[in-house]
Amino acid sequence: MPETLEPTPVEAVIIGAGPVGLFQIFELGLLGINAHIIDSLALPGGQCTELYPDKPIYDIPALPICGAQELIDRLIEQAKPFHATFHLGQEVTELQPLPNGKILVATSSGTRLSAGAVVIAAGVGSFQPRRLVVPGIEEFEGRSVHYRVKTAAEFYGRDLVICGGGDSALDWTVALCGKARSLTLVHRRAEFRAAPATVSRMRELVAAGKMQLLEGNAAAVHSERHADGTAKLTGVVVQAHNGETTYQVAADQVLAFFGLHPKLGPVAEWGLELEKKALKVDTEKFQTSVPGIFAIGDINHYPGKKKLILSGFHEAALAAFAIQHHLFPEKRQFLQYTTTSPIMQKRLGVAGTETH
Ligand SMILES: Cc1cc2nc3c(=O)[nH]c(=O)nc-3n(C[C@H](O)[C@H](O)[C@H](O)COP(=O)(O)OP(=O)(O)OC[C@H]3O[C@@H](n4cnc5c(N)ncnc54)[C@H](O)[C@@H]3O)c2cc1C
Repeated sequence: MPETLEPTPVEAVIIGAGPVGLFQIFELGLLGINAHIIDSLALPGGQCTELYPDKPIYDIPALPICGAQELIDRLIEQAKPFHATFHLGQEVTELQPLPNGKILVATSSGTRLSAGAVVIAAGVGSFQPRRLVVPGIEEFEGRSVHYRVKTAAEFYGRDLVICGGGDSALDWTVALCGKARSLTLVHRRAEFRAAPATVSRMRELVAAGKMQLLEGNAAAVHSERHADGTAKLTGVVVQAHNGETTYQVAADQVLAFFGLHPKLGPVAEWGLELEKKALKVDTEKFQTSVPGIFAIGDINHYPGKKKLILSGFHEAALAAFAIQHHLFPEKRQFLQYTTTSPIMQKRLGVAGTETH
């Protein structure tokens, strides 16, 4: 029988390196608690990095406008003094309270940690975009068919088809119109779910002849096969709802925004109490039904929960205090300000750097 590796003892483990998990490093660090952070994606940033890196966010306190990737970069910078250990590209598959009061955290890559406390900041779980259902589409996914924009410039000068009727589809239609060589928006019905102002702007662009709008579904793709066997996308066939009319649209790039398909994944299998497909927590400690396991950000649920980044930041601050008490119950807790606390300033590496 293969020998099971002894788990490495650590103070706290954060599952999920989205904006809220990253801020948890900082809040724990201020209280002198070191964290390991794990994410199944290759890069930190969660939804901000994966789904809308180029979009501006307007509701982060004191930052009137902040790009989603910029927010992540700032959170990483802010957490730097606390030297968290990042385990990226690894899915947490096992979470198990141990007889000694610690919690075993095990990943798909074989990392095994025994944690004093665990914070689950797993967002919408391992989220998957809803895919375009068209025969043979797999061959083009990631090359010519995309479910998110990583770099807007990739679509400049291209024949672009955008599918969908929500905010992402409409925002990118307006942003890329005039930059793509041609742009066609395909939506299954006449009504849109996106912000009315963006829909109006799109209709103005159509009226000005700068793009076209088709009501229907992408039903097939056209392609050319090269000598080396690879296929190049050349067009999309759009079928109207009457089933008779079809439109042939030249396209070498397709963006499909049909929303996310939230998949709780392993989080649902850890025996923690769930409510509304999220982890039930209290609003004092943000602790789950298992002592020592906390949940913050989009993954949790409590009365009045709002899935906003700033709500997650507040939850991270309170969870940090609860974790400090869980790890060191004998220690008296004080609320200290970073402005005036010498110990916090020492932890931040800014002691003795007052400006006057
Ligand atoms: C298009 C769009 C625009 C938005 N705009 C705003 C806005 O303007 N303002 C605002 O406040 N909010 C906005 N949001 C919502 C905001 O992005 C989320 O509230 C926020 O990302 C939640 O952060 P989180 O850290 O809880 O989770 P996430 O960002 O979802 O990160 C969770 C991380 O956990 C990882 N993970 C999950 N399960 C596991 C596992 N088993 N093992 C390892 N890793 C795991 C995932 O890979 C992911 O990286 C927007 C969302 C979208 C989609």
